[in-house]
Amino acid sequence: MSVLDLARPEIRMLEPYSSARMEASGGQIMLNANESAWEPVGEASAGCNRYPEPQPQPLLQALAELYGVQREQLFVGRGSDEAIDLLVRAFCRAGEDAVVIQPPTFGMYAVCARIQNAAVIEAPLAQDFSLDIPALLGAITPAVKLVFLCTPNNPSGKSISRAAIEQVAQALAGKAMLVVDEAYIEFSDQPSAIELIGRHEHLVVLRTLSKAWALAGARIGSLIASPEVIALIRRIMPPYPLPLPCVAAAQAALSSAGQAAARSHIDTVREQRGLMYRSLAELPGVREVLPSDANFLAVRFDDAGGVYRRLLEAGIVVRDVRKYPNLRDALRITIGTPEENARVLGSIS
Ligand SMILES: *Cc1c(COP(=O)(O)O)cnc(C)c1O
Repeated sequence: MSVLDLARPEIRMLEPYSSARMEASGGQIMLNANESAWEPVGEASAGCNRYPEPQPQPLLQALAELYGVQREQLFVGRGSDEAIDLLVRAFCRAGEDAVVIQPPTFGMYAVCARIQNAAVIEAPLAQDFSLDIPALLGAITPAVKLVFLCTPNNPSGKSISRAAIEQVAQALAGKAMLVVDEAYIEFSDQPSAIELIGRHEHLVVLRTLSKAWALAGARIGSLIASPEVIALIRRIMPPYPLPLPCVAAAQAALSSAGQAAARSHIDTVREQRGLMYRSLAELPGVREVLPSDANFLAVRFDDAGGVYRRLLEAGIVVRDVRKYPNLRDALRITIGTPEENARVLGSIS
């Protein structure tokens, strides 16, 4: 059996769109794509009269090095959000197939599934937000094509152990794809699940430059998987997913100066996270601060709504996560600069 047997048959058969850029590049006079021959006005848009490379090799190479994979194991798109959408469209037949999620978790898995008219099966996390493996495996039906795990999880901040991920991967072999979303892993001590891809061809790992790499505005996310899965995703990707200025921003972020800046900011966030964890826990009206491996803390309050409004009056916007199961009294607070964090503490107490 091939892992592609899990994909939608019509996607496997699909003749992909062939863009002008894919059919020919490298000439001196480019008259094949109906582009303008003139550069646009503005420094930020230099070169933007031309369509960009669909998957620019220098960026692929830099990301492959960063993540320790081959370029053939990497699809780069407009954030992990696009990768989630493409996975659902490649694997889930509308009205027939399903995905499994573990609430409370990131909202886009269910939204993308519903847009595709795939069923969303919920296997909630345990009370302490750890993965409930028997519940998860019990939720697997023949219709399930994708299982999403988020580690560290948004909005709880808790990581899933490598052993647990491997156990789920083994149980799903031949049945469903396992998608491990590591949007926040740079802030944790956990090893990445990327190393498991060689042994589990149905494993997909999502990484992003949006959080630790300070590039949420550039929309650069990676889908890392076996070359077969990557080739399938490239069949359905938009013709030119990566805008030229965004590729330049990503390359700068991945330069040695960019890497040094990212490392230093990650260190600051981890330090501040510890400080905020201890300081918030001592404030009156705080019921609990959930331990977090990410760049945010979920905090339970006696009056979460009141604290939310008080922060807003002070000009501080946090995320109200009270709609999530098991977080009915919680706010999610991102770790900011030391000055911003001090203002949060001052405004709550
Ligand atoms: C922020 C976030 C993302 C989105 O990442 P983009 O690359 O910006 O699309 C993905 N997964 C989780 C869990 C997130 O919190």
